[in-house]
Amino acid sequence: MKQAYAALQQMQEKFNAIQAEISKHSDEKAKVEKMLKAARNEADKLNKAKDIVFSALEKIKKPNEQIDSQLSCLSCLNYLSKEKPQTLICGHSICADCFNKHSDPNSKDSLVFCEECKIETKNKDLQKDSKFIKTITQKFTNTK
Ligand SMILES: [Zn+2]
Ligand SMILES: [Zn+2]
Repeated sequence: MKQAYAALQQMQEKFNAIQAEISKHSDEKAKVEKMLKAARNEADKLNKAKDIVFSALEKIKKPNEQIDSQLSCLSCLNYLSKEKPQTLICGHSICADCFNKHSDPNSKDSLVFCEECKIETKNKDLQKDSKFIKTITQKFTNTK
């Protein structure tokens, strides 16, 4: 009888130990869950900040792209900082290399076609050697 009681008590102690272990683990679990929640909140905040930064960057990029298209050759897309940019009546420019490739520099009525505006400019109406475009492009590409 005494033996059986001792065994029962031992079992009770084991049970208590297991119970304690379980509650310790559920404490751990609650802690981990709390940390996870905080981490998720932090991630949400970071995501929102990221969205704000990205939309601000988009806004900055847009005018730059517009400037880019004015300062780049409409054909090869290189910056017009070299040689003699030829400016079309639409305001876009083409580099001397591309101009000589696509148009006959010796014919006054030879046409240059702007792929962006779909407008043709006669050779004689081109503004040859746009120093303004060249200077601006040099300044723009140096500071980029
Ligand atoms: Zn070109
Ligand atoms: Zn154009």
